[in-house]
Amino acid sequence: MDRIGETTLEIDLSALEHNYKFLTSRIAPGTKFMAVVKAMAYGSEVVAIAKKLEELEVDYLAVAYVKEGVLLRDAGITTPILVLHPQPVHFKELIDRCLEPSLYSPKVLLQFLDVAQRQQQQDYPVHIKFNTGLNRLGFWENDVDFVIGTLKGRTELRIKGVLSHLAASEDENEREFSLNQINTFTKICLDLKEKLGYLPMRHVLNTSGILNYPEAQFEMVRSGIGLYGYGNHPDFDKKMKPVATLKTVISQRHKIEPGESVGYNRAYTSDGYRITATLPIGHADGIGRQYGNGKALVYVKGTPAPIIGNVCMDMIMIDVSGIDCKEGDEVIIFGAGHSAEDFAHSAQSISYEILTAIAPRVTRVIKW
Ligand SMILES: *Cc1c(COP(=O)(O)O)cnc(C)c1O
Repeated sequence: MDRIGETTLEIDLSALEHNYKFLTSRIAPGTKFMAVVKAMAYGSEVVAIAKKLEELEVDYLAVAYVKEGVLLRDAGITTPILVLHPQPVHFKELIDRCLEPSLYSPKVLLQFLDVAQRQQQQDYPVHIKFNTGLNRLGFWENDVDFVIGTLKGRTELRIKGVLSHLAASEDENEREFSLNQINTFTKICLDLKEKLGYLPMRHVLNTSGILNYPEAQFEMVRSGIGLYGYGNHPDFDKKMKPVATLKTVISQRHKIEPGESVGYNRAYTSDGYRITATLPIGHADGIGRQYGNGKALVYVKGTPAPIIGNVCMDMIMIDVSGIDCKEGDEVIIFGAGHSAEDFAHSAQSISYEILTAIAPRVTRVIKW
């Protein structure tokens, strides 16, 4: 279905399938695949994405917060869901909706154990997260004894997974640091296995980890950005397809005389005769002010056109001088053929940020 006449984020589920197959082709048979669908599936459309992934028989889904998991359960998703950063106030709800928590500190483990006990749980599956160098969330290496000691003789919880997260898996210059993290993780898992009497499912790799550290797949990998078509490297980007394409239309064209200004604060002043086009998309739709004033390019009939002047809340103005275009014509902000990574890069951002910035008021159009 083509919806012309407004700003839309087109979600191509066949691109998702392509990326999923590319990523799973890079992991050993039997290694489980966890699809990260936090932040509305990286700003796309989480229910459609999760349903497609379920159809592709993905092993696991991951979200950041409990409410994101609840939304998926409400939509009928039955695949196991890991909650990467659950807040204790939502632990009861997490259990009610059969979501699996990542437990990352002594306090959070004790709080979860307490809720699980009050909810009369037996063997409730949890994942224990260790910090191996990102210094964001996680138990320390020497907390293994605390975890084991806390759960000793307790039947409420079962450690189903153990995880860590790499700090710079996309950066070749940080290979030694990443290998060090993987090494520390391996040691923690061995220690845990010995003291626990079994080996939980280990998972440490994100998308760039899958692509750059295939030896560290363990029992499961976690991929987000790759599924949406971005591999943090031009060579990988070539093998993937962007799932989301952000399109809009030309609302109005203006002829600008030399010396005239365009937009708020008169941030753009014309040095000659120019044709501008005004588009119905602005910072409230996710195109931040950093993209204005000549930084980012959008595409009109395949021809790049810079955003001029300040980005407004609901509009941007672009310079279409020399481009054969009229009111109502389509404009591609980013997506298939015009990488979101390049768009983001023009304003010192990254694909992750621009993808997840696209506001809910932008109409999502799902291409099945
Ligand atoms: C977001 C996230 C991922 C996914 O990372 P990508 O680089 O998008 O593949 C994996 N693990 C954790 C802990 C995350 O927070």
